[in-house]
Amino acid sequence: MKLLTLALCALAVSTLAAGQDKPRLKVYISADMEGVGGVSTWEKQASASGLDYGQYRRLMTLEVNAAIEGAFAAGATEVLVSDSHGDGQNIDAELLDPRVKLVRAWPRPLGMAAGIDATFDAVVLIGYHGAEGQADSILSHTEDDTKYADMKLNGVSVPEAGIVAATAGAFGVPVVFISGDQTICRVTSDLLGDIETAVVKVADGFYAGTMMHPQEARELIRAGVERAVRGRDEIKPYLTKRPVKVELTMRKTVEAEVASYLRGVERPTGNVIIYTADDMIDAAKFIQAVYYLKVD
Ligand SMILES: [Zn+2]
Repeated sequence: MKLLTLALCALAVSTLAAGQDKPRLKVYISADMEGVGGVSTWEKQASASGLDYGQYRRLMTLEVNAAIEGAFAAGATEVLVSDSHGDGQNIDAELLDPRVKLVRAWPRPLGMAAGIDATFDAVVLIGYHGAEGQADSILSHTEDDTKYADMKLNGVSVPEAGIVAATAGAFGVPVVFISGDQTICRVTSDLLGDIETAVVKVADGFYAGTMMHPQEARELIRAGVERAVRGRDEIKPYLTKRPVKVELTMRKTVEAEVASYLRGVERPTGNVIIYTADDMIDAAKFIQAVYYLKVD
């Protein structure tokens, strides 16, 4: 009993951040760009060469700041942000809330969930979008529309939000919030349960959408993240049964062929590869490795 008391004391001390009198509460924010309010095309807004890219990376940063604001309002003691779009270098580091640390650039083994570990308490997804082939979702794709036509975990087709949720789930951390268009918010809630969402735009098609003012979008995000982080205990981590069967439908048949040279990679049809991963961490690394396998 005494030993147990000692152990509990040690646990209590370890959950207190150094020099702080409140318990540690770590929030992880992964930010993409296609689901940011106002974004409707890569050509003009979401690619680094776009005419209005500078303005839209600023809007992305401000949506992330709104999420950070909500997280701290809910009691967060530490926030880590992952820039998870394009080349991973979109968030304006100077404009970003100075209380956080930022993960930038690729490659990185856990992709859009880089930096997550079991010390985090909640994951927030900002600016996410529908999976490849998803109707009524602005700029819907999975990782790269020239690379993957579909991504399945244990037979279930998942959007990028599902991959991040499963990776975080492997560390026991739940995704509690997502922002983007109405479709990705609905699909993610169907997959993960009753999480908080902020529909910052309504997709009328692949490019077309009805937008709200950025200020209104940011207020929805701030308030939603605060509620979501406060209610984090209600949401279960997204767990994938082990081993995890990763099924990737490749755009390029030749890349599926080359991936299948690796031991453990099956190729049931020309452009489909299947890898049976020990766990979701292994699975996430496989997805990243195949992403960087390029054959012209
Ligand atoms: Zn994306």
